[in-house]
Amino acid sequence: MKQVKAKKHLGQHFLRDMNIAKKIVDSLSVSDNTNVVEIGPGMGVLTQFVINKNVNNFKLIELDGESVVYLKEHYPQLTESIIEGDFLKLDLSKVFDSKYSIIGNFPYNISSQIFFKVLEEKDKVDEVVCMIQKEVAERICEKPGSKTYGILSVLLQAYYDIEYLFTVGEKVFDPPPKVKSAVIRLKRNSVIKLECDHKLFFRVVKTGFNQRRKTLRNSLKPVLNGKILEDEIMNKRPEQLSYNQFIDLTNKIEKLLAE
Ligand code: SAH
Repeated sequence: MKQVKAKKHLGQHFLRDMNIAKKIVDSLSVSDNTNVVEIGPGMGVLTQFVINKNVNNFKLIELDGESVVYLKEHYPQLTESIIEGDFLKLDLSKVFDSKYSIIGNFPYNISSQIFFKVLEEKDKVDEVVCMIQKEVAERICEKPGSKTYGILSVLLQAYYDIEYLFTVGEKVFDPPPKVKSAVIRLKRNSVIKLECDHKLFFRVVKTGFNQRRKTLRNSLKPVLNGKILEDEIMNKRPEQLSYNQFIDLTNKIEKLLAE
């Protein structure tokens, strides 16, 4: 059977190593009632191992028509489960009415956007196991104080316990990507609501990191509406703050704005 021809603009790098594929799928916690969505199944290298797990409801979202044809021929039992479309545009509430987990070797060009979508759906997404570019994986797992700590590190760490699982070299892919890859796991923590206004928190984090080399006193001006927050923390730079410190800061800003 003809293989799918890799298309660069879709971030297609097909994993060829079955041991790694199995290891990725084994990293996902599943039980009989777990719903799973796979992003970008391609030719199904992870899919075959998910099938063996007998999960409750399994959906696959693939943008590439050629891959969809391939999958339907190879896994006829999944015909009804494959959704041809763009994960970023999909209304996930129409796919699952209860919680679900996400697995995938993500298209690296849109991995950040996938995580922002996960954050929008955080009350539904229990767990994510994914392979992404190694640098992005490191950034997401990074603790405060490092140069690569950024928006996604803070936002994701506020809602998920994150583990860096393992690094994957270029050679196990066809075609090989230019970068190293890594597999990470995100498990939803017990925080239902942050102890601050969620929208303002997002805004403070994003605005702070927009000019990451400046102190928060300077970078957060657009959020403060001309007011001045007299606080030590404003002399720091965004990468120095843990998500808990961002929560404190958000509360102080909310109070100030209400005065
Ligand atoms: N899981 C396969 C393929 C990984 S490559 C493997 O490990 O070999 C990334 C896959 O994501 C490709 O199949 C690509 O077609 C798909 N893809 C790219 N953009 C997408 C999007 N916006 N929504 C869903 N799938 C997408």
